[in-house]
Amino acid sequence: MSEPNSSSPALPLSAEIVAIGTELTTGEKLDTNSQWLSLALADLGIPVRFHTTIGDDLKTNVDVLRLAVERADVVIVSGGLGPTLDDLTREALAQLQAVPLVLHPESLEAIESYFRKRGRPMPERNRVQAMFPETAAPLPNPVGTAPGIWMTVARAGREACQIAALPGVPSELYRMFRDQVAPRLPQTGTIIRRKRIHSFGLGEAQVDEVLKDVTARGRDPEVGITAHQATITLRINAPGQSVEECERKIAETSRIIEERLGEYIFGTEDDELEHAVLRLLAAGRKTLAVVESGTKGALAARLADLDDGTHFRQGITLPEQQWIAHEPTRTPLAPAKTEELARWIRATTGADFALAVSPYRVPPTLSADPEIAYVVLDGGGTIVTERVLISGNPEIQQARVVKTALDLLRRRLR
Ligand code: AMP
Ligand code: MG
Repeated sequence: MSEPNSSSPALPLSAEIVAIGTELTTGEKLDTNSQWLSLALADLGIPVRFHTTIGDDLKTNVDVLRLAVERADVVIVSGGLGPTLDDLTREALAQLQAVPLVLHPESLEAIESYFRKRGRPMPERNRVQAMFPETAAPLPNPVGTAPGIWMTVARAGREACQIAALPGVPSELYRMFRDQVAPRLPQTGTIIRRKRIHSFGLGEAQVDEVLKDVTARGRDPEVGITAHQATITLRINAPGQSVEECERKIAETSRIIEERLGEYIFGTEDDELEHAVLRLLAAGRKTLAVVESGTKGALAARLADLDDGTHFRQGITLPEQQWIAHEPTRTPLAPAKTEELARWIRATTGADFALAVSPYRVPPTLSADPEIAYVVLDGGGTIVTERVLISGNPEIQQARVVKTALDLLRRRLR
């Protein structure tokens, strides 16, 4: 271990996550455990300062653990606890402290019993999962064979570093973190609660302009802005001594955001525009039908995913040629034709509302000329037509048009 630096300033508690697995560093699998663990640690008031992802290599494991122990007070290791030769976390932790691996009879009994209950003999290889660094404690795993490892590493001149090693299987890791690790972690006295508020229709810069003072750095609670496929999300992170305190801060800040963004806000947390639309349709006992071309069924797919047919009546997808050839006018003029098709699907399905999306092409690069898509809402008696400029990142254009259509109806229904 490197020399402790007694002159380093006292930093607040911080954590590092070490995700182990060659399937992660090669890109074959996505490291979702680090994301989950970071949110879970933040909830406990322990900010994560480092994510380290490494392959199944013993020396790299030991090197990374040494560094982590130096720079973080809590280290959560994910993966490498399986029974196979490439699972090296046990060995790496033993080397970190220069202690041998010793058998833990109760863990062996638990693993044997796991296999017995499934009517299978325990493969000899699984025995290694009952081996622990001499200075470590096992963390029982109620949902799998690999127990976790809890270890305290002394550091000269400062608090010890706590290490928890957990199996990489996400469901096992989640459960063991909650049940075994969280109660053992140092109490910070501070917890964090979060809220996400979603808006559509304003750009990221516009939202930032309206909320300049709210998104300022160092504000309590902190508010961040992220954009995903034209949805702008405000993320409130509220630290506090109690859940009530966090929630009070979140409520105050939410109120400011709601006042400033008003009707642009469509939901919170996991809400998407289709959730908002279907909620409003349900509240008003209304129905919707959709006919679309350029979005190739993506609008209908979102609605069909969430509704059994009670509010979303029907979706029809027409390729561009069929769209143009559709009776009665055969006009290729997109706005008129889109309005006509909106009326047509509303009439044929008897739905209260219809949305229609014209054909459009997506310019392949940012420098190509923009295209136009037409989105029409027929509310029975009133027709609203929106022109959507198709330009910018080609990857997100379909989502933009789909969301524009959903938002047109959402605004009408609210
Ligand atoms: P291990 O504990 O290393 O044997 O991992 C068991 C399985 O859990 C692997 O085969 C992966 O499918 C999955 N896994 C391991 N690490 C992660 C991670 N960081 N994020 C998501 N899944 C993981
Ligand atoms: Mg592995």
